[in-house]
Amino acid sequence: MQRVYLDNNASTPVLPEVLDAMRPYFGERFGNASSIHHHGQEARGAVEHARESVAALLGCGVTEVVFTSGGTESDNLAIAGLAAAGDHIITSNTEHHAVLHACKHLEDIGCDVTYLPVDGCGLVDPDDVARALRPNTKLISIMMANNETGVLQPVNEIGRIAAQADVFFHTDAVQAAGKVPIDVTRIRCDALSISGHKFHAPLGVGALYVRKSTRIHPLFYGGRHERSRRAGTENVPGIVGLGKAAELAMQGFGGNEDQKMGALRDRFEQGILGRVEQSGVNGGGSPRVPNTSNVYFDSVDGEPMVIALDLKGLAVSTGAACSSGALEPSHVLLSMGLRADRARSSVRFSLGKENTAEDVEFALALVPETVARLREVSPVYRKQTVVGSAR
Ligand code: PLP
Repeated sequence: MQRVYLDNNASTPVLPEVLDAMRPYFGERFGNASSIHHHGQEARGAVEHARESVAALLGCGVTEVVFTSGGTESDNLAIAGLAAAGDHIITSNTEHHAVLHACKHLEDIGCDVTYLPVDGCGLVDPDDVARALRPNTKLISIMMANNETGVLQPVNEIGRIAAQADVFFHTDAVQAAGKVPIDVTRIRCDALSISGHKFHAPLGVGALYVRKSTRIHPLFYGGRHERSRRAGTENVPGIVGLGKAAELAMQGFGGNEDQKMGALRDRFEQGILGRVEQSGVNGGGSPRVPNTSNVYFDSVDGEPMVIALDLKGLAVSTGAACSSGALEPSHVLLSMGLRADRARSSVRFSLGKENTAEDVEFALALVPETVARLREVSPVYRKQTVVGSAR
């Protein structure tokens, strides 16, 4: 059966070049990067080479890159490492749970947190950020790109507000890295999170940019790895993979791969909207990363839709979360003002480097017929049709 993967915001395949770069570090180059002998220094050299590549991707200095186990750890390190009891934090309602739950934890230990709303396009208003500032505000954490909709927040403006107020600014760029160019100097952020498996490096490795001279409290206590910002023996193969993926992402921007992906995504959206009535793109009016398309299909539940598409070979996802056995509609879409049923009917399609025009055609052939089939058995949809035809 033909299988097409359009769930790259969940995870991406490791590219062959990345796997080739990593392979020796699972075998003959097995050393601990802290050891002073040949084996250790070989590993150290590889880690530092990867650090240069990640620094080049983010536009920062090598000493400002801290390797972590991924996006969740990077977000937690930034938030728990930069704020403490008594501080005020500003974030938004549409952050990833790695940020929201870290903020909730800080509330439990004595921080105040302001959760800013977004508008119907999914955007935070920078004026709201400025208005939320208090004398004890220590940290602003607003994501660069949303994982469900791909919406890009106005991080440059928020960074300017943070700098003027002398407040730390962290941005979760997990869904931006590899998809749009990142420059920490332009964003004026103090911390920025990335995760390898979102841009063709392996699972379980990531990085946090921490601006030079910023005092950040570590999450773990142990050795003096990563300049005492992240204790624990480095995951050398993973870090090598992250570095290689960063190099490939830079080459991709050079070859306008991001624009080509955006054109594929636009083709997909036009095709869907032209073929499926009562559908629309969530966050479609905002600046977005070029690979993500979040589409609602009224009167269809997202979950059966994902299953039906998977049975036909197309892998996509919903933003719905399962809590206590019930499907909760996405907090991101609800925050954008979508009705609960429309949020539940939404499906995320996310392209990756390996997707082709044929993959998009495959999805365009499959999605409309699947929606039509599910609507045939939907009492809600039938009711609307009857009402419509009676008019
Ligand atoms: N932040 C965002 C925006 C994400 O999309 C994700 C993963 O989906 C994370 C953080 C967590 O990253 P990781 O899976 O590397 O822990």
